[in-house]
Amino acid sequence: MDLGISGRRALVCAASKGLGYACAEALAAEGVNMVIAARTEGPLQEAAEALRSAYGVEVTAIACDITTPAGREVALAACPDPDILVNNAGGPPPGDFRDWSRDDWIKALDANMLTPIELIKATVDGMIERRFGRIVNITSAAVKQPIEALGLSNGARAGLTGFVAGIARQTVAHNVTINNLLPGPFETDRLRSNIQSAAEKSGRSIAEVAEARRLENPAKRFGDPAEFGQACAWLCSSLSGFVTGQNIVLDGGAYRGTL
Ligand code: NAP
Repeated sequence: MDLGISGRRALVCAASKGLGYACAEALAAEGVNMVIAARTEGPLQEAAEALRSAYGVEVTAIACDITTPAGREVALAACPDPDILVNNAGGPPPGDFRDWSRDDWIKALDANMLTPIELIKATVDGMIERRFGRIVNITSAAVKQPIEALGLSNGARAGLTGFVAGIARQTVAHNVTINNLLPGPFETDRLRSNIQSAAEKSGRSIAEVAEARRLENPAKRFGDPAEFGQACAWLCSSLSGFVTGQNIVLDGGAYRGTL
C-alpha cells in the first residue's frame, strides 16, 4: 500500500533505537526525509546511516536532549517545518510516590508532557498553513491501565493525553491530525533492561522472567518494534486524515476492556 507521503519531511524524536527508530524506519521505507534526534552521538549516527543506506532518504542526525529547551531548539533548527512529528522520549523511572520530590515530577512532566506540547506548539501552525500535518505521540498502555510503580509516567502521560484530546479537534479541519500510540510490551532495550532488573530482584533467570512475561500476554509474545513502526507510518500517512484525537493501544490484547 502506498501511504502517499513520499518526499514529506519528518522530525522523529528519541529515534536512535527502540520504538522511535522503528517509526523512523517505517517512514523512511515510505520515502520520508527526516531529522532524527537522540542524546548519544554514536548510535544516533549509526541509525541515520542505516536508514540512508537501506531506503535512500535524507536523514539528518541531531544529538540532543529533546526534553530541554536547548535540545528542542537545535532539533527544530534542523527541521523547522516538518510535515510529520513523532514525539518520543525516555520514560520516567519506577518508584513509590512517597519518595518523589517536586523536582522528580517536573522532570517527568518536562519529558513526557511538556516536551511534546512545546514541539506541537512550534510546528502545528506551519502544518495548518500547508494543509498537511501528522503528529503522533508515543505514550504508553499505562495511560489506559496504569502501572502502579510508574506513577510519574501515568500522571505525565495522562496530562499530555488530555491536552491532545482538546487540540486534535481544532486542527483536523486543516488536515492536521494528532494521535497517540500506546505501546504495551515491545521488545526494545528498555523492556530488556526492565526484565533484567526484575530477574535480579527475584533471583530468577532473565530467560525465565522474559518467558513468564510473554506468556501473560494474550498474544504469548512481545511486540516487534517494526509492528509499532507500521502503525505509526499509517497514522502519518495521507490516508489517515479522518483519524484524530485517538489513543491506539498496541499491546497484544493485554488491556482487558471491551472498549
Ligand atoms: P529504548 O529502546 O530505550 O529507546 C529510547 C530511545 O530514546 C533511544 O534512541 C534514546 O537514545 C532516546 N532518548 C531517550 N531519552 C531521550 C532524550 N531525553 N532526548 C532524546 N532522545 C532520547 O526505549 P523504547 O522502549 O523505545 O521506549 C520509547 C518510549 O516508549 C519510552 O517513553 C517508554 O517509556 C515508552 N514505552 C515503551 C514500552 C516498551 O515496551 N518498549 C512500553 C510502554 C511505553 P539516547 O539514550 O541516546 O538519548
